[in-house]
Amino acid sequence: MLKQALAAGLLAAGATAALPVPRPIAAALEAVQVAAAPTQSKPFGLPFADPPGPSTWLLIQGYGNTATAYRWRVSQYGAGQGLHFGLDLSARCGTPVIAIGEGVVRKVDAAEHGAGPHNLMLDHGNGYVSFYGHLYETPRLAPGDPVARGQVVAHSGDPDLTCTSRPHLHLEIRESQGLRVAFNPVTLIDADWDALSLVGGRGFQRDLDNPRQWQFLDDQPDVTFGGPLLNQYAHPWPPEWNSR
Ligand SMILES: [Zn+2]
Repeated sequence: MLKQALAAGLLAAGATAALPVPRPIAAALEAVQVAAAPTQSKPFGLPFADPPGPSTWLLIQGYGNTATAYRWRVSQYGAGQGLHFGLDLSARCGTPVIAIGEGVVRKVDAAEHGAGPHNLMLDHGNGYVSFYGHLYETPRLAPGDPVARGQVVAHSGDPDLTCTSRPHLHLEIRESQGLRVAFNPVTLIDADWDALSLVGGRGFQRDLDNPRQWQFLDDQPDVTFGGPLLNQYAHPWPPEWNSR
């Protein structure tokens, strides 16, 4: 009985597939498929294996012209033109961090790049490096070690060393040659950024003289380290909270 039913089902499926699709419908289907096809493929993946959520990880600060970076534009982000030159993803201390692409280890605990207490830089051989900051411990890798995309390369930590104040991963993507330019990871990492931004990462600073500039997660300028501040706004919103 079952065999017969399966055979009938297969036959029916085969018969349906063999039916010619009317021309206007075929054309419409093709148009839909073209519209649904990705227009641009992003080379990297997310740095966590688990899907986002309140018990795993969430986006807490976007890249670029954030209100937080504006507040600390001179003291903390001055070297990066006053902008947040990475993404912040909240996660419990000890959350496994995975390589966003295949490559080789370039630097381990590079103090010159900040983002303590520990950090890691991978070179992906395609013109980009990825940099993972505020790690829990020294990654058990050495410069030159090969890494696969998705391989656990580190564990996330807390810049305040408490694991309760603001545990998060700071993730940067820079040009690999001189490490002088940081790019918006949102434009290079394949993820559902629209969904992620429903929870966090949308706190951008406004320049009231140009209020639409740099207000979206995916519309942010590259950062050239050592360049002039990009957010020294004459009329900022929210307004200046102190004289920093
Ligand atoms: Zn950060």
